[in-house]
Amino acid sequence: MRVLEGLQPDRVFYYFEEISKIPRGSGNMQGISGYLVQFAREHGLSYIQDEAYNVVIFKEASPGYEDAPGVMLQGHMDMVCAKRPDVAHDFQKDGLRLAVDADGMIHACGTTLGGDDGIAIAYMLAILESSEILHPALEAVLTVDEEIGLLGADALDASQLKSRRLINLDSEEEGILTVGCAGGLNAEIRMPNKWMEAEGIQCTLSVEGCQGGHSGTEIDKGRANAILTAGRALYRLAERAEFGISHIEGGEAHNAIPKSCRVSLLVDESQLEEARDCAAQVEKELRAEYAGVDGEIRLVFSVGEKATGRMLSFQAMEKLLFLLCEIPDGVLRMSPDIPGLVQTSLNLGVIKMNERETYVETSIRSASDSERRTAADRVAYMAEFLGGRCSRTGEYPAWEYRRESALRELMADTYRRMYGQEPQVEIIHAGLECGLIAAKMEDLDCVSIGPDIQDIHTPEERLDPASVRRVWEYLLEVLRQCR
Ligand SMILES: [Zn+2]
Repeated sequence: MRVLEGLQPDRVFYYFEEISKIPRGSGNMQGISGYLVQFAREHGLSYIQDEAYNVVIFKEASPGYEDAPGVMLQGHMDMVCAKRPDVAHDFQKDGLRLAVDADGMIHACGTTLGGDDGIAIAYMLAILESSEILHPALEAVLTVDEEIGLLGADALDASQLKSRRLINLDSEEEGILTVGCAGGLNAEIRMPNKWMEAEGIQCTLSVEGCQGGHSGTEIDKGRANAILTAGRALYRLAERAEFGISHIEGGEAHNAIPKSCRVSLLVDESQLEEARDCAAQVEKELRAEYAGVDGEIRLVFSVGEKATGRMLSFQAMEKLLFLLCEIPDGVLRMSPDIPGLVQTSLNLGVIKMNERETYVETSIRSASDSERRTAADRVAYMAEFLGGRCSRTGEYPAWEYRRESALRELMADTYRRMYGQEPQVEIIHAGLECGLIAAKMEDLDCVSIGPDIQDIHTPEERLDPASVRRVWEYLLEVLRQCR
């Protein structure tokens, strides 16, 4: 029995359901990659599977399209694994349990659905198996591990690809043609810790209740960064009371705006009242500043037992506070070309501490490769100035907007003809694989599209089958026009 039986287009939902049976969280790519290879063999299509498990499947042009330049279709096979805490699901070996809501939306029971980017795989397989769909020569590029740093696109050998037109299928909103995206990198700071023995009352200062969000698409919403908010509260506290820091920990991932941060303190007994007052005062300010964007923000100061323990030396604490108060964060520059688009941003996403060092992870994004490097230089300079180190990882280039794009024109025209309205043409402040692929190929013309998917990367992820059908019809029409 198929759960998605009866939904149209039937073959797209057939493949979506088939691949949902194969666990394909990032890093677990062998199974899905093998399935795609098997598919290619069964359909007599030539293919390449590389060492990273990326798969490219080739299909010849339909009759009448032999002379048309080829088209690359592209999406990623991995998905983010997130589940509700009450759900038993082993992403290593369990298939997803698909369901259709009362309102017709597709979701998975208690877990992410993997519509991002499973729908791209389903579209591609349904096109590749068909003998009726009209299209030029196709190269279907299915990459691994996009969600953990675009690893598959990075490893991809583009010299085997001939198309100079790329339709990426990893967008989540129908009616939008994405034609450019930010590049990014992670800058990781390590500050050496020096400790001293001290005595005092064990207290904790926690920032809680922040909304968080995606470090790219939601960086301009004016939400609180819980870690920097904790830094600011500590600075104020240091003006009024004597205390030491014995631990700090906050944030969930480099690419998420941190929702909470917790600092363990040793506070001088005579200063407790002052510290408590100060925390209450700062909380009041925060509530006023973030009313409307982060209205649930709380600064909780709790008092424990008297204890002796270690705390950061005064100098190490001073440096940490300086870092948390002065590091660039949030929107660094808006686009000079496109109103409302963030050009460059930084998100301080994680802070952790062990005996030896304090670790801070930031995610930098920019539509400009030079601005991205400059932002990273600022972070590195600050870290080094304070006696720490900074390393850069996961760097990928921006996908720069092309003033001339025949593919964009063709897709916009097709959209107008089919729907009688203008598509939105957008550049996004988030990463897509197109940038990495375009950087490897001379003169690659790309556009990214996709059907409506809500709440991606969360257990509430929902895919709209009506939108899947419309985007399918649109995609087929675009291919038919690619002569
Ligand atoms: Zn995706």
